[in-house]
Amino acid sequence: MDARHPRALFPATVSTDSRLTIGILALQGDVREHSLALEAAGARPVAVRRATDLGDAPGDRLDGLVIPGGESTTMSTLLTSFDMLLPLRELIAAGLPAYGSCAGMILLADRVEGAEEGQALLGGIDMTVRRNAFGRQVDSYEEDLIAPGLGAGKDRPLHAVFIRAPWVESVGPGVEILATTRTGRAAGVSGVDGGRIVAVRHGALLATSFHPEVGGDHRVHDVFVSMVTRRA
Ligand code: GLN
Repeated sequence: MDARHPRALFPATVSTDSRLTIGILALQGDVREHSLALEAAGARPVAVRRATDLGDAPGDRLDGLVIPGGESTTMSTLLTSFDMLLPLRELIAAGLPAYGSCAGMILLADRVEGAEEGQALLGGIDMTVRRNAFGRQVDSYEEDLIAPGLGAGKDRPLHAVFIRAPWVESVGPGVEILATTRTGRAAGVSGVDGGRIVAVRHGALLATSFHPEVGGDHRVHDVFVSMVTRRA
């Protein structure tokens, strides 16, 4: 390569990074925390802010995508106004692995109870999700989950933080339930019983009601990165 060629100035970054590229939808939410968790899980995180960041097919620019928490109604509006909703729906339908946390779980649901009228969804997971199921704006709920499918056995439960979180009311036949609430203890929030579904997987799609990116535990991201690895 000619030494004056621009690539000659940055040879290493282009050729030696064999990690999978996982986008983080950066419209709202814990983008930095997801980025750190993905790096810890061995992937290369990139921020996704506009439709061109998505690429045209799974594996074109992104091997997978994380949809953080936030406010799903706002995210739906932003996805629509940035012309990302339809391309993203198509990529997910074409098999792009995606992981949605909290509001991201809502966006990946095929059906949502308590959605705003006309709220657009990405869909993909055959489930009905109830928005704000754990309580209203100020409410949060924490629980140590035992979830072997998320690498959290009895000896090392997963500390889950729920913030104005949804839960899953029901799932279709192809959906694997990865975690349910255990204790029914509700830290001042009524109506949280044991057995509520809070993590699911359907094909290449993963969703959690809670925010695993807070607190530096990257076991859920490990699971997602291995799902992406199998697809890539
Ligand atoms: N309640 C929010 C919604 O409906 C989700 C909250 C969260 O992502 N922490 O979008």
